Amino acid sequence: MKSAKFDGEKISVIQTQKPLLDSQGAIIKVLGCGLCGSDLVKIKHKDKTAILGHEVVGIIDEINVFDDKFKKGDIVSLTHHYPCFECDFCKNESYSMCRTFKSSNIYPCGFSEFIKIDKNHLQYTVYKMNTDLKEDEMAFLEPLACVIRAIRRSGLVYNNDNSKKSALVVGLGSIGLLMLKALKAFGAETFGFDISSNRTDLAKKHGFSFREDKKFDIVFLCAGSSKSLETALNLVIDGGKIVVFSSIEKDDIGFNNNEIYYRELSIIASYSPSVEDIKLSSELLNSKKIDVKNISTYYNLDNLACAVDDSLNNRVFKAYIKI
Ligand SMILES: [Zn+2]
Ligand SMILES: [Zn+2]
Repeated sequence: MKSAKFDGEKISVIQTQKPLLDSQGAIIKVLGCGLCGSDLVKIKHKDKTAILGHEVVGIIDEINVFDDKFKKGDIVSLTHHYPCFECDFCKNESYSMCRTFKSSNIYPCGFSEFIKIDKNHLQYTVYKMNTDLKEDEMAFLEPLACVIRAIRRSGLVYNNDNSKKSALVVGLGSIGLLMLKALKAFGAETFGFDISSNRTDLAKKHGFSFREDKKFDIVFLCAGSSKSLETALNLVIDGGKIVVFSSIEKDDIGFNNNEIYYRELSIIASYSPSVEDIKLSSELLNSKKIDVKNISTYYNLDNLACAVDDSLNNRVFKAYIKI
């Protein structure tokens, strides 16, 4: 079968063995896989150990876990990590810090014709998808789950009345746009900011704008630039919250200590989703309460390197790799 390989310099598509179902789990015939910002960061950092592709959509091809949840032929979307639920991190609800979470993955990688997943994936990270959705829409299961976790960590609760809370998303790439849509689904008063007029125009088309005269209760940082930290500090209310949801290029630049102290700001980080967030993500996508139509651009697996290049150079908004 075909599978993508990254040697630290370039991405190629190689022929390799189809994975065997040699333990409890399933083989997924991959229909396609979203290209994530975190894949791009790993490529930029020449991380040759990276397992690229985790926003997988596929069909269950073989399965040896027999319950009433899944069967051969089901169309599913899935994510790559699951926690152990037993360690101190898990007990503290820091699921994405769990060592099992960090070491669990799909095999060999999302940009492959077939992948092997294990029984814990089936239990925690795989969802049957509404077949009215297009594949690229189904592939938002994982990114939307990440966004939901960030919103929940900011203190907003789904189905509560959040209409008195104002939220600002800084950085309106595909994940920022998803954050806007999810905040709206949570019922918060939602605004978006970006330095690029292309991105603010696109956000406007989706119904989101910016207000110059306002400060915001919660600011979500979805931009990979140190400049966005300053923007967040300028636009958050005194006593407000900043949710860090992106890495930045330079590690040595951080938030101004005295601004945080004298203005009593809360700086919160959110990384990856918990199992509960993946569940809510599947519900919001399948019920179409969050619409992710026409966000992605399709590429073939053979053109993965081109999709990466186009994404790194902002020529596309979000790439979906059709396998
Ligand atoms: Zn992702
Ligand atoms: Zn754990």
